[in-house]
Amino acid sequence: MAFEFYDLLGISRGASAEEIKKAYRKKAMELHPDRHRGDKEKEAEFKKVNEAYATLSDPQKKAAYDRTGQPEWTGFSGGGFSADFDFSDIFESFFWGGFQSGGSQRRREVGDDIEVRVKTSFEKAVKGGSEEISYERRHVCPDCAGSGSEKGREPKVCPDCAGTGRVRKRMQTVFGVVEQAVACPKCRGKGKIVEHPCPKCRGERYVVFKTERRVDVPAGIEDSMTVKIRGEGHEGIDGNGDLYLHFAVPESDRGLERDGADLHYFLDLDPVEMVLGTVRKIDIPVAWAREIEVKAGSQHGKAVRFRSEGAPKLPNGGKGDLIVTFRVRIPEKLSSKERELYEALAQEKDGGEHSKGILGKLFE
Ligand SMILES: [Zn+2]
Ligand SMILES: [Zn+2]
Repeated sequence: MAFEFYDLLGISRGASAEEIKKAYRKKAMELHPDRHRGDKEKEAEFKKVNEAYATLSDPQKKAAYDRTGQPEWTGFSGGGFSADFDFSDIFESFFWGGFQSGGSQRRREVGDDIEVRVKTSFEKAVKGGSEEISYERRHVCPDCAGSGSEKGREPKVCPDCAGTGRVRKRMQTVFGVVEQAVACPKCRGKGKIVEHPCPKCRGERYVVFKTERRVDVPAGIEDSMTVKIRGEGHEGIDGNGDLYLHFAVPESDRGLERDGADLHYFLDLDPVEMVLGTVRKIDIPVAWAREIEVKAGSQHGKAVRFRSEGAPKLPNGGKGDLIVTFRVRIPEKLSSKERELYEALAQEKDGGEHSKGILGKLFE
């Protein structure tokens, strides 16, 4: 539904940034899952409200949304597409400790996401393929399994936070003053203190390895589209982050251009070919080589559309078209024979006036 984000927050399209924030705060408080445990409908609505806010609070995303009424499509994982926005981050920063029973549990330690720019060719972006990428990935230390302690030694429970990794602190937020749980400064949020560090990770619990791998280039991918691979980001004790592949694709390849799923090729023709008609063999890179008929009397700019012979459409399937556009190419140099023929043609058309040229006419 177009522009539903405004309805979700109960505001009009002209709402100011302040009004958007206020409306979001009200809705988020109303719908927060901690107030409606197990209510799937409310949870879904809460997610939608968060999604709406993620778009409307970002000036760039909002401008795009205001133009189209649709949120930007940002990525997919596997075969299915998903909205990338992780609302838990936003609400956690606002609500942690505000609603939860109060930092009695250690905060979940999930690895960060990894973002990699994947350069690929025009052809692979149309037909699909794969690319080799490399990046640094953080792994749970294999020697101490993430405890940070030397073999046979256990880290001791942090006395300041009693192992929770969190201490409570009063803070000013957009929701007013709330008591918020923050990372314990003594153990840096880990809940444990390592007295005999593991030699491999030096007590850091994680080690970084260079990762090299081959990733799929989905057929139909466009420049600046993102693919998300779930769980392939940095490792964490409680789960991994995601790997985001941001694709970079050239705009054209040997005269073939791309507009979304449509491919455009311009066929340069001599005026004579367009007037009299011809059959031209064309070799369109990435697509095909075949003969194409130029009918007698074809006009400059005439487009021949080959349905569903373009690039695959993402995310919904189907294919774009391949469009061959005729372009007249005026010869810049003529042989004397050609010139004679053109002049004869001009004479035939204008009864001889034309062949003298403009100067000839003026001084006649
Ligand atoms: Zn602590
Ligand atoms: Zn270690």
